[in-house]
Amino acid sequence: RAKAQGRGHVVEFDWTMDLEAQELMLLEHDLRSAIAGEELHLVYQPLAGTSTGIIAGCEALLRWEHPRLGNIAPDRFIDLAERSGLIVPIGEWVIRSAIAAAAKIDPGIRVAINVSPMQLRSPNLCAVFVNALAASGVAAERIEVEITESVLLADTEANLAVLQKLRALGLRISMDDFGTGYSSFSYLRKFDFDKLKIDKSFIDCLGQEDSSDAIVGAIIALARVLGMRTVAEGVETSAQLDLIRQLGCDEAQGYLFSRPIDLEALVALVGSAPAMQAIDRDAVIAPD
Ligand code: C2E
Ligand code: MG
Ligand code: MG
Ligand code: MG
Repeated sequence: RAKAQGRGHVVEFDWTMDLEAQELMLLEHDLRSAIAGEELHLVYQPLAGTSTGIIAGCEALLRWEHPRLGNIAPDRFIDLAERSGLIVPIGEWVIRSAIAAAAKIDPGIRVAINVSPMQLRSPNLCAVFVNALAASGVAAERIEVEITESVLLADTEANLAVLQKLRALGLRISMDDFGTGYSSFSYLRKFDFDKLKIDKSFIDCLGQEDSSDAIVGAIIALARVLGMRTVAEGVETSAQLDLIRQLGCDEAQGYLFSRPIDLEALVALVGSAPAMQAIDRDAVIAPD
């Protein structure tokens, strides 16, 4: 087992390990070579203004095309990358690639990058941003760093200091998946986030549960008082869009407008249609 976790490319099974652990170990081994190879790429999901449909920004999302297993979803490998420390080199590649992409996207469009807790602990993080911005000539204000509440759960003081440094570079800081953590609201006292992304789990229940509508309404009202922009994540129906618009949410991200798409498609979309059409999946599949 010790050998398998080392830096070598030999994978040795310990037959006392369960199947899942063996699978994870193989995946980790493959992820190491994925970084060196051409297997990782980014896709970009547009964010639209809720009242205009105009594209305000996009989020860079990592994809892994495994040579044998095909596409592996981030939910399956980001965790693994975190635990093995591979997220640091992978994350640096993500930052450089997304900022290089931003240079090809209309300067009115912001680009959001996910940064995980382990990356905040890397002493290189700020330099990676500085170098990528300098190399591409992209304004720091266009780049949004998305962190989750877990960043403020452990190593809080050190992580807050890193967030302050990133902010001092001109980057925007967003809280991702808001509402899924242990004490979400207390984190808002610790850092002055530019943007709050309301987790999809709340958006899913909109219009079906009075309590969800009330919670989302309260989050949006609170964000406004605190001077944060709001994004609803995972908007899939026009009913949800109507509700979040009425509740005062600034932007929507979800399949209703677009799935994550490649850079060329995003550039074409921004160029051709400043306002996106909402494609309501419920409406599409609803019987007539
Ligand atoms: P996230 O940052 O909350 O990203 C939003 C996720 O919701 C994306 O999943 C996106 O494809 C999905 N999504 C957007 N709209 C809809 C919708 O209408 N319906 C549904 N069902 N899903 C929607 P994805 O790309 O699979 O990424 C999952 C998570 O993996 C991300 O959640 C983020 O936490 C992490 N991740 C992705 N790329 C990176 C990266 O480059 N670095 C790090 N550290 N984490 C990443
Ligand atoms: Mg995100
Ligand atoms: Mg999110
Ligand atoms: Mg999420």
